[in-house]
Amino acid sequence: MPRKVSSRRDRKDVSECIIFLGTGGARIVVAKQVRASGGMWVAINGTNLLLDPGPGCLVKSRTRKEKLDATKLDAILLSHKHLDHSGDVNTMIEAMTDGGFRPKGMLFAPAECLESDPVVLRYVRDYVDEIHELREGGHYTIGRVTVSTPIRHQHGNAETYGMVLTPSGQGPSVAYIADTRYFPELADAYRGDILILNVVFLTKRDYDHLCVEDALKLIRAIQPKLAVITHFGMTVIRAKPWEVAAELESAAGTRVIAARDGMTLDLHLESEPTA
Ligand SMILES: [Zn+2]
Repeated sequence: MPRKVSSRRDRKDVSECIIFLGTGGARIVVAKQVRASGGMWVAINGTNLLLDPGPGCLVKSRTRKEKLDATKLDAILLSHKHLDHSGDVNTMIEAMTDGGFRPKGMLFAPAECLESDPVVLRYVRDYVDEIHELREGGHYTIGRVTVSTPIRHQHGNAETYGMVLTPSGQGPSVAYIADTRYFPELADAYRGDILILNVVFLTKRDYDHLCVEDALKLIRAIQPKLAVITHFGMTVIRAKPWEVAAELESAAGTRVIAARDGMTLDLHLESEPTA
């Protein structure tokens, strides 16, 4: 008898998943598109969320083998204003709402993305049903998911929040540590079954991003069922992210994988990620 795992591995439709529309981070990688920068599509508990739609999000969602239909989105969420996280936000609002002809959905963003440094154009704001400002300690209900923004990140002067996605009822939770400098309170804030970390640097730099050593500290402290590293800068890309992930896995004693452009990750971890 084949084990359940292997039979699930063959299925084509992964209904609860994260699709990585880009795994590049920081300016050079994004400017040269060494890796794509379209953010993440999360299908969780019947709710479709788009996180951090950077440049190329729409193109990546429409040119993949199994096209993604933006009109199925329930919400678009920005962790912060930087272009590698927000470049396609206006495009995706228009795509979500059928060119603005069928207003729907929700937009979540830090206040500065809407006010002092508005990356969301005013005319597309009428296309969405609701716009919410993210704040530290916030909890927001989207469909059958609660999104929490437990702590403000230390990311230069950009107002930045990561997110914890918790389905109502049973099912795996997803914690997303967006761009930030390391600080110890991150570990308590981001408990989740699946932990996604934006790891820009290979080695420590006095700059506002996590490096591999920071990721190791967080994975050890949080002990998720699976950690996924993504949002790579050039130093991580040169070091081969899958080798970095393997080293993290053996050091942390927790399963760690490196995201690939186009990868689909089954939230229930019953099938291997597919690109
Ligand atoms: Zn940033």
